[in-house]
Amino acid sequence: APETAAAPETFDTRELQRLDSAHYLHPFTDHAALRARGARVIVRGDGIYLWDSEGKRIIDGMAGLWCVNVGYGRASIADAVHAQLLQLPFYNSFFNTTNVPALRLAALLAELSPGAAFQHVFFTGSGSEANDTVLRMVRRYWQLAGQPQRDILIGRRNGYHGSTVAAASLGGMAGMHAQGGLPIPGIHHIGQPSYAEGGRGMSEAAFGLAAAGWLEDKILELGPERVAAFIGEPVQGAGGVIIPPATYWPEIRRICDKYGILLVSDEVICGFGRLGRWFGCELMGFQPDLIAFAKGVTSGYVPLGGVLVGARVAQLLAEQGGEFQHGFTYSGHPAACAAALENIRILRAEGLVERVAQETGPYLKACFAALATHPLVGHAETCGLAAALTLVRGKGAGVHDCAPFAPQQAVGMLCRKHMFENGIIMRAVGERMIVAPPLSITTAQIDEMAERIRACLDLTLDEVTARGWM
Ligand code: PMP
Repeated sequence: APETAAAPETFDTRELQRLDSAHYLHPFTDHAALRARGARVIVRGDGIYLWDSEGKRIIDGMAGLWCVNVGYGRASIADAVHAQLLQLPFYNSFFNTTNVPALRLAALLAELSPGAAFQHVFFTGSGSEANDTVLRMVRRYWQLAGQPQRDILIGRRNGYHGSTVAAASLGGMAGMHAQGGLPIPGIHHIGQPSYAEGGRGMSEAAFGLAAAGWLEDKILELGPERVAAFIGEPVQGAGGVIIPPATYWPEIRRICDKYGILLVSDEVICGFGRLGRWFGCELMGFQPDLIAFAKGVTSGYVPLGGVLVGARVAQLLAEQGGEFQHGFTYSGHPAACAAALENIRILRAEGLVERVAQETGPYLKACFAALATHPLVGHAETCGLAAALTLVRGKGAGVHDCAPFAPQQAVGMLCRKHMFENGIIMRAVGERMIVAPPLSITTAQIDEMAERIRACLDLTLDEVTARGWM
């Protein structure tokens, strides 16, 4: 694709920014800072590329927000949605009614689910609603199981499960909890399985077991008879691509089984191919009881989320439970489900999930290992098409031997600024620079992305050196 393309229409960027500042409240945004800078206006996408209102081409290293798995510009998804909107734009699934895309998608997801063991699906409009549904479903399950006192859910610090009240409570983002009395009662947290943060002096394998052991400690502290479920992301996304040691998840499953506790895998990011399997739990070697999904199910073309329900919960909830008093207007939205059906057809037809496992994932790993030789990079970690570079002041032999920057220097944000100015989107989580590109990315495009990242690391190094921080 050309570096700059004649936009199909021209945009008055200043005027758009003025309207944006005047009226549009953005998610997770400091509006005074945004007003000072002016928002970048994204107007078009094709493949892994975006264009802004100035006609500038940008590599989208983040697949939108970890979601555009099949890449931008898929006319067949637009066609499927268009046809469905003409046929039936909306109908609810509440009162003994259903619709064809929703039931077809439910059947397809049951087939694709890990071990085909999740034969029931509850649809929502987003990942946050999926996790709200998880909380209500888990508590309803224990009511039906005759143990209503089991109402505690355990999540992890620095986990992310969404922004609704329940999802933000299940998540462990301190900044979110600090605004508005979260978490709500009945939700507790344990530490995250970050080897860099907590594994000093231990092998990765030993640290994985130790970090899983924190769950058992918490269960015993709270009383096993009161704990309903544990929830976690197979690989933490928003927390900074925290990849747990291989020993972690099987041990978490063993501990949950020991105390009869439900295990929930939040696959909103990891699901639909990000880690080179349809679901992240398949790579991490554990079988959950419930799976929350969103994002990649439609590649973000239309909002959709949901919960895959395994046999244990379905048996009570779907077969003997009577009415589950929960649901959304847009549960099973026909146009969203039509988008998902076509999106999944593309993922399968192009073998994108297998390509991540066999080709693009290993290729990205090699490219990031090469970037880890940069003086500013302490270490690189990748899992499928999710990757992180940690920026450090001084390199060391292992992850625990690097000298970090002071947080207030905000070197990650500085680096992100250079990325933005040079046509590549990476996310900064503290000093961790993240990519999660569309799964449709080619190896040549990974090279292009890595070259640009290296150039921006050089610019960041120059600036950090000029400021005397290194
Ligand atoms: N769970 C995880 C793991 C996520 O990454 C996100 C979104 N980044 C959510 C839940 C919430 O999804 P949504 O923003 O669609 O509500």
